[in-house]
Amino acid sequence: MSSDEITGLPDRRAFRRLLAARLESQKWANPLAVILLDIDRFKKINDSLGHDFGDRVLIELSQRLGATLGGPSSGRLVGRYGGDEFAVMLGDLNRVGDVAQAARQILTALAEPLVVEQREIFITASVGAAVAPADGETAELLLRNAETAMYAAKKAGRDAFRFYTDPMSTSVVRKFDLENKLRRAIERDEFELLYQPIVHARRQTLAGFEALLRWHRDDEQECPPDDFVPVAEETGLIVEIGEWVLREACRQGHEWNRQAASPIRVTVNISHRQLRSRGFVSSVARILDDTGLDARLLELEITEGGVVRNERETLTALHQLKVQGIRLAVDDFGTGHSALSYLKKFPLNTLKIDQSFTRGITTDAGDAAIITATINMAHGLNMTVVAEGVELEEQLYFLSQNHCDEVQGFLFAHALDAAEATRRLQTHIWGPSPE
Ligand code: C2E
Ligand code: CA
Ligand code: CA
Repeated sequence: MSSDEITGLPDRRAFRRLLAARLESQKWANPLAVILLDIDRFKKINDSLGHDFGDRVLIELSQRLGATLGGPSSGRLVGRYGGDEFAVMLGDLNRVGDVAQAARQILTALAEPLVVEQREIFITASVGAAVAPADGETAELLLRNAETAMYAAKKAGRDAFRFYTDPMSTSVVRKFDLENKLRRAIERDEFELLYQPIVHARRQTLAGFEALLRWHRDDEQECPPDDFVPVAEETGLIVEIGEWVLREACRQGHEWNRQAASPIRVTVNISHRQLRSRGFVSSVARILDDTGLDARLLELEITEGGVVRNERETLTALHQLKVQGIRLAVDDFGTGHSALSYLKKFPLNTLKIDQSFTRGITTDAGDAAIITATINMAHGLNMTVVAEGVELEEQLYFLSQNHCDEVQGFLFAHALDAAEATRRLQTHIWGPSPE
């Protein structure tokens, strides 16, 4: 069996073969771990003190590892894995928890300075571990995953230990967890709607509010809709959640309109999953009926991709909504990579220009050209144009100069809770705010 000339330890190939043999005979009664360890900044020792000195350091180190971990008789094996890398097999574990303990032992053993030619050398290492069978059942896979873990330790700032974590399994677990919590969120009353004002660009009076969903999880910090809405869509939960959103927004909208001097539009985001779900059109009708909101004051926002997907079914649903007097808007216009023909085919009232274009208005001639062309096109199709993400006075100026109808963004207000929105409604403040 080949061994390394300098340290006398099994070299990479020998280590791999011994590991494979051990895995072969192991019946998974106990876990088996592979630890890879890379000496931090070893190149610096070599460069400044010479290669012979570097070799002596490696010899000292291999002896110390051997002394710390014990020999092959205990089911443990140390190998020289590469230039400044060592591999350790732990074949005598009772529990996975013993791996962390062994790794800590290694880091502690290394913390003692090495004495080479009467010189004290301080070294640290980045240590990664993978455990069979969970992280792999072959020598190949275990070593690869231990290496991934070792790089993670290096990235964490060296002198550190990391277990391999399967990126797939963690994201799946996270999603599953999220899904379970989402399922209970409605009954636990964890959702809230915030309202962001939409303002007439020239007059700077209120046109309406867009309802934006928030999830207050009892166990954690805020979970933004961009994180949980996709999971809700994938699992179909969005249908139930969306119905709650619609009902709550319509209820609030009706209350505002009872008090307001001029009509206030309420805009609600609708997922393509909802639009496709059976009974969506009738559930909207029922909600309008129950809450008393005038259908003409409700606008449903659907993303470009959501409109174009499933054309035939969507078209039917949209027409049925339109017949009831409900307004329809295309959300995030310009991000969907779709042909424009749908704009004349579908019964749409409003076009919302995505924030990414608004952002570049005053700095990027291309964005400015896209926006002015979009406004002209929309007006040609008899649609209202809303620009999203307006944050600066210059952007507002450009938009109103170019006949954009309505604007929405932090320049006017962030999304407000219902009480704050109501308060501002009574005081009529809708100009740019110094938020
Ligand atoms: P969206 O429909 O494009 O909503 C606009 C998002 O931009 C909101 O984020 C809003 O807070 C943010 N925003 C508004 N003004 C500005 C600004 O001036 N600058 C910047 N940087 N951002 C601004 P939010 O509330 O986090 O919502 C994110 C997305 O989640 C929404 O994007 C929408 O797609 C989805 N969403 C929110 N509520 C619902 C809902 O009830 N149902 C469904 N299906 N989706 C929802
Ligand atoms: Ca929206
Ligand atoms: Ca949008």
